[in-house]
Amino acid sequence: MKVCKFGGTSMANTETIIKVAEVCKSDKDRRYIIVSAPGKRDTGDIKVTDSLYACFKAAQERGECEEEMNVIRKRFADIEAGLDIDIDSSAQIEDIERNVLKNGTADYIASRGEYLSAQVLAAYLGYEFVDTKDLIKFNDNGELMLDYSADLLRKRLSKVKYAVLPGFYGSDADGNVKTFSRGGSDITGAIVANAMGAEIYENWTDVDGFLTADPRIVTKPEKISFMSYKELRELSYMGAEVLHPESVFPVRLAGIPINIRNTFNPEHPGTMIVPSNKLPKEHKIITGIAGKKGFTIINIEKDLMNTEIGFGRKVLSVLECEGIPWEHMPSGIDTLSVVLRDELILGKMQRIINNIRESTQADNVEIHSGLSLIAIVGHNMASRQGTAQNVFEALAYNHINVRMIDQGSSELNIIVGVDTFDYEKAINAIYHAFMD
Ligand code: ASP
Repeated sequence: MKVCKFGGTSMANTETIIKVAEVCKSDKDRRYIIVSAPGKRDTGDIKVTDSLYACFKAAQERGECEEEMNVIRKRFADIEAGLDIDIDSSAQIEDIERNVLKNGTADYIASRGEYLSAQVLAAYLGYEFVDTKDLIKFNDNGELMLDYSADLLRKRLSKVKYAVLPGFYGSDADGNVKTFSRGGSDITGAIVANAMGAEIYENWTDVDGFLTADPRIVTKPEKISFMSYKELRELSYMGAEVLHPESVFPVRLAGIPINIRNTFNPEHPGTMIVPSNKLPKEHKIITGIAGKKGFTIINIEKDLMNTEIGFGRKVLSVLECEGIPWEHMPSGIDTLSVVLRDELILGKMQRIINNIRESTQADNVEIHSGLSLIAIVGHNMASRQGTAQNVFEALAYNHINVRMIDQGSSELNIIVGVDTFDYEKAINAIYHAFMD
């Protein structure tokens, strides 16, 4: 039995939904189908989820959202008109509008794109629509209750042979709709795969799988046929945008492979994501290179830091009080650096510096912004010489200054920090050092 998730571009309009249905029907094992809200039809288009957030904003600011809601009405009317199905979303959209104006939350309204698109596909396929609202549950801290949700899903779906489920949301203890972060339908698909013990989790998107580097930066990068869950986690966290970084956990726990497939090129085998001990023998040294802009590094210096017990804790307590997670923390004998995401420290930097100074009595605290991080990821670099040398030679040869280095003890990745103006050049340099 296969669980399949189709993303926003696959659900974008009538033609794409017909392709989705062909994929579903071409294999009788594709039984549980999870969908995103209709996404962009072309580059200038707006995703339904973004239009829904715009409705919420308008309702908050102006007390009405007629114009914004019309965009949603038109999207679904166009889709439904082309599919010849016995379903009309307009009454439901009226309800949604009323709820938004009453007291609907941002999560409630954002979730309605998936809610409607799952009903459309269910009607077109002749499958049952199963709402995920009361099947995917979050605790009071907003965390997913995986086992509990899997139990609920299993009970509900065990009697249903074929079903379409909306991705992206569930509900909290009080039954209020709660969404995952953006792109979260991937997580819903992974939870359903876990719950039903799927043989495979197929994630259908609009590309032939993962690439070894961002094609906007590197010309025609090679495709990745196989990667491990861990490599996936590293690459997607560091900006490879095919899959939500958190969607790996529910399937990894159950050892279910993920197969990234292309709705618009269904013959292509895509990328297969498997446990590391199931990787093919000829797996390359470097599986992929990914990166992100927008980091700041705080450098803290204090004489005899190495002898001071609890120094790191003091620094991290300051960040904890601000509710800021840290990305990397390279250290020297009398120095400690912390790398933070810019968007999380906006407006807080001066206070963070003052508090670090005060709690650690550091000799010097400096910040450097404009940092980009690049992750070079691959299982096969473990216990093999020369990978780091290749990376740094390539950077030096291209006159790129390395501002930070971090290598995890698992030797699964090497992370380098470079000035953002060197970012694209650095990715190209590293790519060509390994892939050519
Ligand atoms: N529709 C939501 C978004 O645009 C969730 C998803 O597509 O996975 O983020």
